[in-house]
Amino acid sequence: MIIQPKTRGFICTTAHPEGCAAQVQRQIEYVKAQQPVAGIKNALVIGASTGYGLASRIVSAFGAGANTIGVYFDRPSEGGRTATAGWYNSAAFEQAAQDAGLKSFSIVGDAFSDEIKAKTLDLIRTELGQVDLVVYSVASPRRTHPKTGETFTSVLKPIGETFSNKTVNFHNGEVTSVTIEPATEDEISQTVAVMGGEDWQMWIDALQEAGLLAPQAVTVAYNYIGPEVTHAVYREGTIGRAKLDLEKTGKSLNNQLGATGGRAYVSVNKALVTQASAAIPVVPLYISLLYKVMKEKNIHEGCIEQMYRLFSERLYAPQGTSTDESGLIRIDDWEMREDVQEEVSKLWSIVSTENLAEISDIASYRREFFQLFGFESEGIDYEADTNPEVSIPNLR
Ligand code: NAD
Repeated sequence: MIIQPKTRGFICTTAHPEGCAAQVQRQIEYVKAQQPVAGIKNALVIGASTGYGLASRIVSAFGAGANTIGVYFDRPSEGGRTATAGWYNSAAFEQAAQDAGLKSFSIVGDAFSDEIKAKTLDLIRTELGQVDLVVYSVASPRRTHPKTGETFTSVLKPIGETFSNKTVNFHNGEVTSVTIEPATEDEISQTVAVMGGEDWQMWIDALQEAGLLAPQAVTVAYNYIGPEVTHAVYREGTIGRAKLDLEKTGKSLNNQLGATGGRAYVSVNKALVTQASAAIPVVPLYISLLYKVMKEKNIHEGCIEQMYRLFSERLYAPQGTSTDESGLIRIDDWEMREDVQEEVSKLWSIVSTENLAEISDIASYRREFFQLFGFESEGIDYEADTNPEVSIPNLR
C-alpha cells in the first residue's frame, strides 16, 4: 500500500516502516561514530520503542555493546492498518542488533501488568542471567494497577489556578491562547498513579527479589523541569506532581540498591519532539522557539545526542556521576542555560501567528513530528508501494 500520514491533532494514526527504519539507522550511525561507552553488559529498557527509551536502548547496544531487552506497548499492522511507529522502530532495532551480533529481545505488552513483568523476568533468567542497567522510560496516558485492577488516567492540567498562555497548532501555524482549568484532587492522584514512581519501584523490587539485578546495577528514569512559561502545565501541574513522586522513588531506590553498590537516578532531560511531549499544551510552541535559539548557538540536541551525553558524561562517566544539589542528573543543562532561556523568553513575549515562521523553528518541529512516524525521512520514496506487515525478530 501507499502509506501517507493521517493526523488527528497531535496523533498520527499511520506510520511508515522504511521511514522508521531510516530514523533508527540514523541514530545507530550517530552512536557508532562516537567514543564507546564503558560499563553496560545487559540492559533492560522499559518503554523502549520511541523517544528517549529507544535512544537509551540504541546507546546501550551500539555505544556500549550491551545485550538488550526492550519492553514496549505497540501493535502490529492488521486489517489494512499500519503498525505503530514503535513497532517499526523496534523491528529495525532488533534486526540491526542481531546483525551486529548482540543479543536482543522484545517484549510487547503492558509494562504495568504483573504478566509482562513475569515474562520479562523469565527472559532475563534464561537469556541474560542478570541485568546491570534498567532504564524506565514509559510515558502513558493510563495505567491499570496490577493489584487492585483500578484504571487511572493522567491529565495535563495546572494545579490550584486556571492557567492561560500561548500555544500553537503546529499543523497550520496558528498561535492562540489556551486556557486550562485546574485539576481536581482526584485527577492529581490519578496522574501520580500513572506517571509517578510506583511502577518503577515494582519493576526493581521484582528484579531484585528474583536475583536478576547485578550487584552494581544502575537504574534511571526520566524527568522534565523546564522554564517558567511551561511550569503551570508541567513542573507545577499534575505531571509535575507525578514527577516529584518519581524523584522520591529514585531516592529510595538509590538507598535500596546502594546496599550492593547499585545506583538509582532521575535524569532531567531536554524538551524534545516526541509523541508524549506533542500532547502537552504550550510545550510545542516553547520547543519551536527553543530549537531556533539552541540551533543558532550550535548546542541543539535530539534524543540520541541527549542519551549519548547522559550515558557517556553522566551515568558511566569515568570521573563518576555528577548531579545537582537535589541529586538529579541535569542533562537539560544546555536548555536551561541563562543565555538560552533569556532569548527564548524574549521571543515568547512577541511570538504570534504572523511572525511564527520567522522567529521560531516551527518547520523543524513539524518535520520532526512527522519523522516520529517515519514520514519526511530523506531517501524514502513515499509514493512507492510498501508492505505494512513487518515482523520483529526476537519477539517473545
Ligand atoms: P514516548 O511517547 O516517545 O515513549 C514512551 C514509551 O513508553 C514508548 O516506547 C511506549 O511504547 C512505552 N509505553 C507506553 N505505555 C506503555 C505500557 N503500558 N507498557 C509498556 N510500554 C509502554 O515518550 P518520551 O517523550 O520518550 O518519554 C519518555 C520519558 O521521558 C517520560 O518519563 C517523559 O516524561 C520523559 N521526558 C520527556 C521529555 C520530552 O520532551 N519528550 C523531556 C524530558 C523527559
